[in-house]
Amino acid sequence: MSIANLFQKQSTVFSFEVFPPKRNSPIDTIYKTLDELQDLKPDFISVTYNAGGSGDPAKQPTCEIASIIKEKYGIPPLAHLTCVNSTREEISIVLDELKAKGVEDILALRGDINPDVPPKTDFAHASDLITFIKGQSGFSLSGACYPEGHCECADVVSDIHNLRKKVDAGAKHLISQLFFDNSAFYSFVERARIAGIDVPIEAGIMPVVNKNQIERMVSLCGASLPPKFTKMISRYDGHPEALRDAGIAYAVDQIVDLISNGVDGIHLYTMNNPYVARKISESISSLRTV
Ligand code: FAD
Repeated sequence: MSIANLFQKQSTVFSFEVFPPKRNSPIDTIYKTLDELQDLKPDFISVTYNAGGSGDPAKQPTCEIASIIKEKYGIPPLAHLTCVNSTREEISIVLDELKAKGVEDILALRGDINPDVPPKTDFAHASDLITFIKGQSGFSLSGACYPEGHCECADVVSDIHNLRKKVDAGAKHLISQLFFDNSAFYSFVERARIAGIDVPIEAGIMPVVNKNQIERMVSLCGASLPPKFTKMISRYDGHPEALRDAGIAYAVDQIVDLISNGVDGIHLYTMNNPYVARKISESISSLRTV
């Protein structure tokens, strides 16, 4: 069953994101993480692809990890795939590899533009990648969306028009960028529905458990920080354990509110941290069955 179809089966889909080990780290480290995540029973696990855009797109272990998630752990995998640094031929090689490994769900992305790596010209937007993959059978496609607008887009209205192009091209499911203010997500979903975007939209939740992570995340994605969040950060700054526990509680609070408001799904950015994923999953496990 494709990931998009999971949303017809259950009221709230609950999924995880993991990333491949950093360069020079052995691939096995991700398997240790997956060993610890598997019994939390996510509906699917997504694996990032060349995040930051600095690696060689031809040498990404995403496909291998996605295949292990499916074969060893019996969990549906969602393989991220970016196109900004690839030609059509290079993308075709990755698609052949995914097909050979039985990985059918792809999160089709443009990718982060690295200022040191000039983009290639075959694909300008994620919608171009979706159109290209749609031309080959056997894949089901998802896309990314941005509750507070994508950082390069002039305004949220144009961003929604562009998102509609992505869905019209063939994205059957969307996963949102992280956000800390649920009202921004609700307004976004309302705009998307008005624009005729009717596919399931999963809310991307990032538990913030240390201060460096906040600074990095905010500079990368520009998520707005509500006063409740900034007060929490300053109150527990310098107390790592307290900040971690407060960050977990904040994420749980966001998730409870989202599920109560009928969100299609929760996509937890685990940051490869099984402890945090476990605490959150256990706190909301009974909510998933209602
Ligand atoms: P697009 O949909 O192409 O949008 C990029 C910009 O172009 C937006 O401003 C949009 O409004 C505009 N646009 C889109 N289509 C059109 C059009 N047809 N005409 C005119 N303008 C248009 N990055 C990685 O490198 N690896 C990953 O694994 C990864 N995983 C991610 C997972 C999620 C859930 C999210 C939310 C992001 C992820 N990213 C990842 C980051 C992503 O690659 C960046 O945010 C990137 O800048 C945009 O990617 P996109 O697919 O949303 O691009």
